[in-house]
Amino acid sequence: MRSFFSQKQSNFSTIRLRVPVGIIYVEQLDALKEVAARYGSGRLHLTVRKTVEIPGVANKDIPRAIAQLASVGWYSSAFGDNIRNVVACPGAYSCPNAQVDTQSLGLEIDSNFASEEDLPAKIKIAVAGCPNSCTHPILNDIGIIGVTRVKVLQDKCERCYICVEDYCRENAIKKSEEGQVIIDPEACVDCGECVGKCLSNALVAESRAYRIFVGGKLGRHPQIGTYLADILTIPEVVDMVEVVLAVYKKYGQPGERLGELINRLSMERFRQLVVDYRKQKVKVACAQLVY
Ligand code: SF4
Ligand code: SF4
Ligand code: SF4
Repeated sequence: MRSFFSQKQSNFSTIRLRVPVGIIYVEQLDALKEVAARYGSGRLHLTVRKTVEIPGVANKDIPRAIAQLASVGWYSSAFGDNIRNVVACPGAYSCPNAQVDTQSLGLEIDSNFASEEDLPAKIKIAVAGCPNSCTHPILNDIGIIGVTRVKVLQDKCERCYICVEDYCRENAIKKSEEGQVIIDPEACVDCGECVGKCLSNALVAESRAYRIFVGGKLGRHPQIGTYLADILTIPEVVDMVEVVLAVYKKYGQPGERLGELINRLSMERFRQLVVDYRKQKVKVACAQLVY
């Protein structure tokens, strides 16, 4: 795994450190400061994927600097055809809009796949806790968004219609011809903001899920990811990421991003490959249990 890149200035490099989901612990800061002051130019750089760069390190000092950083849990390997630093918003840890736990999921993905090798090209993964999508998941190879499906408990509804006027900025809460309150599935973005607002407790969460998109990317030829599935739990999402990576490894050509593979095969075919691989995986797991 690559840990640094050569700068324009000969004999100098920049070390890039992985910062899974952007969490830095205070005890890591002393080592970061010391290495940047001793070996670097005294300056740090924060990247768009929440990694930390130490520029201006003389090539001869790179091994010592990396060893000192690793001793307090600063790892590199944030380059090349690997799983790039996993990005996640604060989610349920601190954001009032969050529908899911983003940071546990991001850390779980990072610990399971950070050392993945033999990928056709880089894979970028981002998690957002709600459809506000602060981490831009649909512009990542694998993007995950926390969503809430809302339902109306008709037996509790008092038909005051305050919700129709006030509770949804997408105007997705509507009054039917029969006077029932209904959720318009075309307009609803599953943000969950209306849940709990009804004083009669008639607007409730039917389910909370991680919504997965695949094939998004930025760069010279940007494209938006395509919906793959809604998944309920963190272990199931990790399982799905494993399947997507396995299909990508098997069918991707060298240098081909996931979105380009999907364009070449079609989303329908890619989805079928994912379904087939999952079935195969379950079969193997069952066989292992039996024997
Ligand atoms: S995506 Fe949603 S949960 Fe995450 S930081 Fe933005 S508003 Fe909060
Ligand atoms: S769901 Fe609640 S707020 Fe909406 S009409 Fe029924 S009682 Fe009123
Ligand atoms: S979940 Fe969000 S978009 Fe859907 S009805 Fe409620 S407030 Fe509106």
